[in-house]
Amino acid sequence: MTEEKRQASEEMRKRIREAVKAGRVGFRCCFCREHIEGEVHALLLISGWNGPEEQQTSQQWFCHAACFTKATGETAQGNP
Ligand SMILES: [Zn+2]
Repeated sequence: MTEEKRQASEEMRKRIREAVKAGRVGFRCCFCREHIEGEVHALLLISGWNGPEEQQTSQQWFCHAACFTKATGETAQGNP
């Protein structure tokens, strides 16, 4: 991810956090389509990951940790 894209992504996350705190938006799980209460997990998809970095694009989807585990068999783990 280029520095410009990283900064844009961080700015978007900041705006979303502010909107969530203000109660203007919520999150819907990309697996079960239900509203997410409490801790929100996000999946990051990078297209063209094995290609040139400047041609990569990324998208994020939100999900419940349990739905992620059910769909992938992997365990969602937070940072210590
Ligand atoms: Zn879910």
